[in-house]
Amino acid sequence: MRYLILSDIHANLTALDTVLDTVKGRWDKVVCLGDVVGYGPDPNEVVDRIREIDATTIRGNHDKAGSGLANADDFNPVARNVALWTRDHLRPENREWLEKLPTGPITVDTFMMVHGAFRDEDEYVFAPAQALDSLLDARAQVTFFGHTHLQGGFTLFDNKVGVLHFKPPAGTNFSTLTTDVETTYLLNPGSIGQPRDGDTRSAFAIADLSNNTVEFWRVPYDIEDVQKRMATAGLPEPLILRLSFGR
Ligand code: ZN
Repeated sequence: MRYLILSDIHANLTALDTVLDTVKGRWDKVVCLGDVVGYGPDPNEVVDRIREIDATTIRGNHDKAGSGLANADDFNPVARNVALWTRDHLRPENREWLEKLPTGPITVDTFMMVHGAFRDEDEYVFAPAQALDSLLDARAQVTFFGHTHLQGGFTLFDNKVGVLHFKPPAGTNFSTLTTDVETTYLLNPGSIGQPRDGDTRSAFAIADLSNNTVEFWRVPYDIEDVQKRMATAGLPEPLILRLSFGR
């Protein structure tokens, strides 16, 4: 079974549709690690698309704030502004769908998925010491996480934590990880709608765990197209600009 692993789409329909077109026929089922909305101009269209492709989805912090399930008080002013804009613009049935998303971690097939960390869905896992807790808590060999918008991951083998980087060079679309049976993996597919690792291309993964492979993809999309819609919607300038830098 090949799983398309999406995360942090952030209401960017241009990026999501480009990715879906690019990998058409290469996956059987799809999962989403949260933050379907927030930051971007297309909350309804992205929720509609995720429901249409029947993605098994867990909630992210922006889904909680955008739906009104959580207040956005711990967000910075720019993110709070868009959370409230999202809440105003979501159709009632989409707001309800976001509100009902399950909290990670959950198990899908042979792997697990979580938005942030195992013990706290809102925790950012940037460093090996933070990853260790989740690697030890994991009840599967492979766990996918999001939230940081950084494609990469961590391994636990022989009581040592390792760091993985996947960055296919420009001109290529993906690099492949071959998993080892004695290693535990915490893998981040990166962000579809707002990459932050200096590479502006959409990031995601395709996992074929019965064949021990995970592909880490980067796909360019029409950034100006989504920036125009953000400007028309009156979304904050810093959010529009950062897409051009992948930061
Ligand atoms: Zn996010």
